[in-house]
Order: sequence, then C-alpha cells, then structure tokens
Amino acid sequence: MTTQPHSTSPGTDPVSELRASFDGRVIAPEDAAYDAARAVFYGSRNRRPAAIVRAKDAADVSRVITLAREKGLELAVRSGGHSLAGHSVSEGGIVLDLSQMKWREINVEARTAWAETGLTAGEYTAAVGAHGLATGFGDTGSVGIGGITLGGGAGFLVRKHGLTIDSLLAAEIVTSGGELLCVDAETHPGLFWAIRGGGGNFGVATRFKFRLHEVDEIVGGMLILPATPDTIASFVAEAEAAPNELSTIANVMVAPPMPFFPAAAHGKLVIMALMAYAGEVEAGESAVAPFRSLAEPIADMVKPMRYPEMYGPDEPGPDEEVARSMFIDAVDVDVAGAIVEHLHASTAMMAVAQLRVLGGAMASVPDEATAFAHRKRRIMVALGAIFENREEETVHREWVENFAAALYQGESGVYVGFLGDEGEDRVRAAYPGTTWERLTAVKARYDPENLFSLNQNIPPKTGWS
Ligand SMILES: Cc1cc2nc3c(=O)[nH]c(=O)nc-3n(C[C@H](O)[C@H](O)[C@H](O)COP(=O)(O)OP(=O)(O)OC[C@H]3O[C@@H](n4cnc5c(N)ncnc54)[C@H](O)[C@@H]3O)c2cc1C
Repeated sequence: MTTQPHSTSPGTDPVSELRASFDGRVIAPEDAAYDAARAVFYGSRNRRPAAIVRAKDAADVSRVITLAREKGLELAVRSGGHSLAGHSVSEGGIVLDLSQMKWREINVEARTAWAETGLTAGEYTAAVGAHGLATGFGDTGSVGIGGITLGGGAGFLVRKHGLTIDSLLAAEIVTSGGELLCVDAETHPGLFWAIRGGGGNFGVATRFKFRLHEVDEIVGGMLILPATPDTIASFVAEAEAAPNELSTIANVMVAPPMPFFPAAAHGKLVIMALMAYAGEVEAGESAVAPFRSLAEPIADMVKPMRYPEMYGPDEPGPDEEVARSMFIDAVDVDVAGAIVEHLHASTAMMAVAQLRVLGGAMASVPDEATAFAHRKRRIMVALGAIFENREEETVHREWVENFAAALYQGESGVYVGFLGDEGEDRVRAAYPGTTWERLTAVKARYDPENLFSLNQNIPPKTGWS
C-alpha cells in the first residue's frame, strides 16, 4: 500500500476539518467522551488536547500528520498510553490515538506476525499464544506494542530471546511528510536501525512484523521472599548465574496489604519477583530451586503455566509517581544494604526498587546493531515512589534522587522506555557512543522539522539532509 501525502485547506478550523474527514472518530472538548478519551495511564498527565483522533488505518494516520504539520499543531502519538513522561497526550494539540488499530496476521509456519500498533502487549501475546508462540514485550500487559517496541522492550524473555526489537523484522512507518514506508534491514536500513530503540522520533509506526518464538508452557509466576541485604544480593547473583531461559524481575518493596501476601508480611520488606523460565518444565523447576532456597518463601506462585498467563489483569495507573532508572553493574551486600535503607526511609504510600538482571540473548547483539546501545549493561534498575497528594512531590523526588545517587556506579546510561520528563541530558544518556550522532542524522532525513517532538526528543542534525 502506498499512502500519498495529503494537504489541508488553509485558514479552516482544524477540529472542523478533522471532523469533516474522520466521520465520528474525532473527539473534542465539547464531546461527552472527551475526558475518557484524553486520559492516559498516569492520571497526573492531565492535559487538554484540541482533539483526539482515533485512526483506523495508515491513510488516517497520514492525514492527521499532514494536518498537524500544516496547521502547526503539536502532535501526540498514542499506542497504549503508558509514557512515563505523559508524551501521549498534548496540551492544546492533537492526539493521534492508534488504539483502534488492532489488526494482526499470524503466520504459524513462517513463525512471523504482522501486528497493528493499537494492540497492547497482552492482546498480542494472547493472540500468538493461542499457537504456542510468543514475542517478548515487558512485564505489563496493558503497555502498547507501539511505545515499547520503539524504545527497545525488555521483559520476561529478555535473556532467552533478547529485547522486543531483536524480534522486529520489519515495520510500516508514516513519515512527517505523510508518506507510508515499509522498512526492514534492506529497505531504509538507517530508519530501521533508528526505530529499534530511538522511540517515536522518526514517524508513526502503524504495523510491525515480529519473529515468533516457540514459547508455550513455561515455569513462571511470582515468588515472594523476605528482603534483607543478603537475600537481595543472593537473588541477583542467582539470576546472573541462571540459564538464559530464566529472566527475572525483582521488585524490592514494603509488602502492601494485598490478598496474596500473608497478613504477617504486610508492612515488611519483601522481594516480589516475577520469574519466567522459557524452556522445559523440569529444567525450569531446577532453575528456580536456588531462588526458593534463599529464604523461606512468603508466597510461591511459580508453577508450570502457559506463557500468556504471565500477564495479569490490567490495573489502572497511579495518580502520582516519581521514578528514576539507571543501569548498574553489580548488587553486592553493600548495594543491597543501601536499597534496604532507602526503601525503609521512604514515606510514600508505596516505594520500590526494581532490579532486572540482563545478559543472555540481549547481550549477544552488538551495541551498534540497533539504536538501543546498552547491550552489555548487567542490571536495569527502576526506583519509584507512588503517593496520593501532589504536595508531597518534592519530598519523594528528593528521596528518589538521593536513592539513585546512592546506587550510582559510574555513568552507564538509562533505558529510554523508563525515562520520565527528565531533560535533554538524560535523553542523551539513553544513546551512548556514536548512537546519538547517527540518530540525529536519521532524524534530519525523515523528520527535518521535528514534527515528532513530543517524545524523548532527538533533534535533527543541522546542515544535514
Ligand atoms: C506500568 C508500566 C510497566 C512497564 N514495563 C516495561 C517493561 O517491562 N519493559 C519495558 O521495556 N518497558 C516497560 N515500560 C515502559 C514502556 O515500554 C514505555 O512507557 C512505552 O513507551 C509505553 O508504550 P505505550 O505505547 O503504552 O505508550 P504511549 O504513551 O502510547 O507511547 C509512548 C510514546 O511512544 C511513542 N509511540 C507510541 N506508539 C507509537 C507509534 N505507533 N508510532 C510512533 N511513536 C509511537 C510516542 O512518542 C509516544 O509518546 C513500562 C511502563 C509502564 C507504565
């Protein structure tokens, strides 16, 4: 399919123009559906766009892009709406909402799937999971495949099958000029390199083609252990020593009063770990055994299951949160001690240090192969505090910054998918080495006027096209 650039009528009110060409799929402030339509995962990203347009195909996407460009309106692109920085809703501009675009085509024999970017990770995983196949996304089913794929995508299969982008074979992208391009390793290779980690800077992805892996019955679920400096450090050591089939996400936190925690654990510091062994059940049980013997488990829900069950029911996002992410190289008992100390010191409703041991397939790809260039980083850390009252923000922000400073082990960058609204230096930290220069050159070619700027922004290289 080729989508040709459109043009709009000068001087007309953009919302009327949108309404005229998108019958019933434009939602503006006077419409009853407006508040629900502008809401994103994080309630505090409470912005009022001029209109939300629910695209149904690439031609719609092209029309919205053209209108935003010609009218000089800010354009927010939304797939699953989970941007930590609130980039998928604009104040006064247009939201291009892809959430209705959920077409997919699964080729079981070829082990590939085309999927539109309105699908969530959970929806895609359930669809391909019906065939005993999977592509790895993150730890949350409601995250959109649009945002997570373009950022990199680290989840339950990261050590076995790499990042989401390591399974990305091709994509359809509508550029700032409104043109639909099919990109892969041979066609527009520079753009294909850039969208594998460079985020939404280069165009709107309408479809992705993914490689599918045979991941059917796994050993997975949640293991809850008491958290002490020893158990935390040992957990990380075991996760590093584990076979690549096992990926873990350890959330160290004070146990909230939730039904799956025994009452005796409420208020105690725990490791709430999500474990996924993508391989034979027997080998999976052996791989999980060392974790079970680190301490008497508070709860052990790790069992043979079908892979899509790793995604629980969708939960609403928090209203207020401060977060900070980084890569580190080691969690010894001293680092684990600092984690315990800072979590105990938090006055937030919920405070968490999330530790993801990386390596395996993710690390086997060269840094320069994709725009995600943190391949050799060993542990991804995300620190966060959730609270109710915005007036407390300063206190929690200071806490999270001090916590990050205490864990700092030298400049090793940050994963763009876990960045909030943290300024230019932090965006640069997501793109180490020559990655940044290459990205600015690709940006200059495909989005020279920086239409796609409401994102972790990579400006176009000047004097370059
Ligand atoms: C609860 C939660 C859990 C998470 N867990 C993980 C995890 O385990 N692993 C991980 O890697 N990440 C994780 N993330 C981070 C997540 O990958 C990013 O926030 C991602 O951008 C969300 O994608 P989305 O489509 O839902 O978000 P959106 O807010 O819709 O999009 C975010 C940004 O991505 C760009 N974008 C989205 N779709 C498109 C598109 N189709 N074309 C062009 N640009 C687009 C836009 O710039 C947009 O502003 C998590 C985030 C949350 C909130």
